[in-house]
Amino acid sequence: MRIDIITLFPEMCEAVLSESVIGRARKKGAVEICCHQLRDYAFDKHKRVDDSTYGGGMGMLMMAEPIALCFEDICKKLGKRPHFIYMSPKGKTLTQGRLKELSGTENIAILCGHYEGVDQRLIDEFIDEEISVGDYVLTGGELPALILADSLSRLVPGVLSDDICFSDESHYNGLLEYPQYTKPAVWRGIAVPEVLLSGHHANIEKWRSEKSVEETVKKRPDMIGE
Ligand code: SAM
Repeated sequence: MRIDIITLFPEMCEAVLSESVIGRARKKGAVEICCHQLRDYAFDKHKRVDDSTYGGGMGMLMMAEPIALCFEDICKKLGKRPHFIYMSPKGKTLTQGRLKELSGTENIAILCGHYEGVDQRLIDEFIDEEISVGDYVLTGGELPALILADSLSRLVPGVLSDDICFSDESHYNGLLEYPQYTKPAVWRGIAVPEVLLSGHHANIEKWRSEKSVEETVKKRPDMIGE
């Protein structure tokens, strides 16, 4: 999978995406992520990418043309058109289900908005999908884009050490994950559930399945009815 991020703050995205699991996956080529500076596609000498809104109002809006030019440049370099996602509080809220579907897409481009957002004409003409990270408003689309890039990348084969790492996790199969414990076996007088020390794999699996359901009923009863 290749992800192209269009942003006014590529360094901010690079800082996060160069670390830890995703940073290592990029280095070994399991996933390709490229951050593009939108200002490089501005056409005035001040490198402006925003302007005031028609109809009045305080805020500025990102202009359509620099975004269109940047996206077209990406298409030209790739030799194909990526699925183009705009991170927006107006989009459908991101779910693990949507991530699973998107993980089969070879090329994805993500637009990070800023200020009051983006000229509607660009959205209507270029954007395939608007995705939100929740019903609240952030100052920019970089954190949402990083959430999308991270959560998508970890579903790509070879990014995590073992695919079981994600298929066992919360939300992947519509349940929350079972509780987990590490050393020491007794911490401040509290012991790890005995079955986990038994070495009996079938019993451990059974315990984990039961706890996974219990955890979901207790913390997210809304998920059970879905
Ligand atoms: N005026 C917009 C509105 O009311 O819908 C909000 C613009 S917001 C201040 C600036 C940018 O942050 C947006 O263009 C979007 O890219 C990003 N953003 C903010 N909240 C978001 C969310 N919940 N999910 C995804 N992106 C978000």
